[in-house]
Amino acid sequence: MSVRIVEVGPRDGLQNEKTILDTNSKMQFIEMLIEAGFSTIEATSFVRSEKIPQMSDAKELIEGLKAKSINFDMLPCLVPNLKGFEIANDLGIKEIAVFTATSEEFNKKNINATIDESLERIRLVCLEAQKQKVKVRGYISTVFGCPYEGDTSLDTLKLVLDKLFSFGCYEVSLGDTIGIGHPEQVKKIYQFLKATTDMSKIAWHFHDTRGMALANIYSAYQEGARTFDSSAGGLGGCPYAKGASGNVASEDVVQMFDLMGISTGIDLSKLVKASTFILSKLGRSSASKAYQAKIAENS
Ligand code: MG
Repeated sequence: MSVRIVEVGPRDGLQNEKTILDTNSKMQFIEMLIEAGFSTIEATSFVRSEKIPQMSDAKELIEGLKAKSINFDMLPCLVPNLKGFEIANDLGIKEIAVFTATSEEFNKKNINATIDESLERIRLVCLEAQKQKVKVRGYISTVFGCPYEGDTSLDTLKLVLDKLFSFGCYEVSLGDTIGIGHPEQVKKIYQFLKATTDMSKIAWHFHDTRGMALANIYSAYQEGARTFDSSAGGLGGCPYAKGASGNVASEDVVQMFDLMGISTGIDLSKLVKASTFILSKLGRSSASKAYQAKIAENS
């Protein structure tokens, strides 16, 4: 038995941290995550630097990693539009991620587009990606609820999901953007989609705002889910979602599956090393229980 963990710390994590890190530290962090055993690490994002200054060195970062002959198949990058795609493609990126949400309000605040407008942008990016043989992963935010609209519609989820697959996304990650989901809701969404969706193409992206992330992952796992996003040390948050704490910590996810005898391919001690490194650069601590336990064990 095994699960796949997609490490999103260098992008989703660092993008939502106040401290803006230097490119070398980011490179070192990514190398340490590779060393820990991750097969997919979301590296950076090609967005406007005035909007997200944390990612303004995306080009330098990728060029730096290139010089170290790292396999780019394992380093997807987020792109918001065709322009972002062109930059990523010119740099030789082999996989990109595109994003939208099930909430109109959230999309408007996050990317200044309605759901339909965002889908049209994504369609154009996917068309180009297909031509260039670049893989595309989709993200859908606010699947479990929206900070502005409250509950979001499962029918909208289904509609957006089907569009993303029809554009050629090989996998779509469902995000609990503000961390308000609970295990029964996970089950309900899984079962709702199951009838019409190839669930092996669905990933789950939980935030630990209310301490529910591991319970949600376990619930999804029991339903049959095998791909989960997480962030080393629990880095991140969401600037548009008040009170949203970080992504679920990779340490917590790896430890849970380790204890259950389910392989993740990740070495927890090496992962803790990578988190310790990046947390010290950020000058913050980790909320991850597994991280703290491992540190205590080694001290
Ligand atoms: Mg996230």
